[in-house]
Amino acid sequence: MLHRFMQTVPDPSHLRLNEPLAQYTTLRVGGPADLFYRATEVEEFAQVVISAHQMNIPTFILGLGSNLLVSDRGIRGLVVYNCCRRIRVGELTYSESGASFQQLFLKTAQAGLSGLEFAVGIPGTVGGALVSNAGAFRENICDLVENIDIVVEGERKLVGKEWMQFSYRDSILRRPNPPRAAILAVTLRLRPGDRRQIFAKARELQRWRIERQPPNPSAGSFFKNVYDAELAQRLPNLPPALKEAGVVPAGYLIAEAGLKGLRIGGAMVSPKHANFLINAGGATATDLRRLADMVKQTVYEKFGVVLEEEVLTVGEWDAPDVSRASSAVL
Ligand SMILES: Cc1cc2nc3c(=O)[nH]c(=O)nc-3n(C[C@H](O)[C@H](O)[C@H](O)COP(=O)(O)OP(=O)(O)OC[C@H]3O[C@@H](n4cnc5c(N)ncnc54)[C@H](O)[C@@H]3O)c2cc1C
Repeated sequence: MLHRFMQTVPDPSHLRLNEPLAQYTTLRVGGPADLFYRATEVEEFAQVVISAHQMNIPTFILGLGSNLLVSDRGIRGLVVYNCCRRIRVGELTYSESGASFQQLFLKTAQAGLSGLEFAVGIPGTVGGALVSNAGAFRENICDLVENIDIVVEGERKLVGKEWMQFSYRDSILRRPNPPRAAILAVTLRLRPGDRRQIFAKARELQRWRIERQPPNPSAGSFFKNVYDAELAQRLPNLPPALKEAGVVPAGYLIAEAGLKGLRIGGAMVSPKHANFLINAGGATATDLRRLADMVKQTVYEKFGVVLEEEVLTVGEWDAPDVSRASSAVL
């Protein structure tokens, strides 16, 4: 089947076999993809995904790999690397899904359009941002979405934002057994604003990140924050504003459990920000997976809280119980 699929691709020079994925992920880990196709045009992207769906080839869409823990054994089937990056700026801004979220902010800000300041420092593509409803500082991409150009189960459609079933760092495409889908492009509604104020806000948010987040390879926050008013009340050292909002940062729980600096092989709980699991040098995906499991276990034993993962663990793993979330579709 893979052989037949290879004969259908629009541009054979974009196809590679056994492509190592570590270089495409911000954690710098991950084994090979059986088939790897780099799509640079939306029509090409759509065509490849539609024929893969029709031939029932397991298909994984790769953005900038900034929210992924890819197994050391890699991903079976097809990985489509999304390099479709065109953007048309306006109050209704159109962006292909492989555009970087940062570029989208820069282009819209330069045009005096506000709404994407929170995207500064989120290092993924627009497609990846939609799948995980990326956000920061209480703003999320879902609030801006007008419509989405998407391939679902081999069929191209234009859907409204309700199709994505967005919630906190979540959408239908992150849930167990999601529909097979590839987001091709999105239209976002932005507000006219003062260019100087837009950049000033973005700079302030960027400074906040630089002060708090480690520079080492990571996939950003590994676990989701916990929305639990009762838990927030019973944590003595939690800042009052968080108690009031009923939010407990995952990093707070991990730090309070004494796990900062914990290391397994080359994987480490960042001493700077406890919710960042970093590749401190030479880490394998298995090191990172073990570290994440140890953090979850310890936080559960100490606080009775099951941390939910923001980073998606994907690919083929040795033990059947370590493959989670979107890996279920592979
Ligand atoms: C230093 C750092 C800081 C971060 N800070 C934040 C933050 O503040 N807020 C936040 O929300 N996130 C943050 N992240 C996480 C990450 O950057 C976001 O989740 C980002 O939106 C992921 O985009 P990506 O292109 O890298 O997706 P990938 O990691 O490549 O993919 C993630 C998932 O989306 C799917 N996917 C990607 N593109 C498509 C598509 N076109 N169609 C269908 N499925 C697709 C993939 O199959 C996969 O399941 C941070 C990460 C890092 C490394």
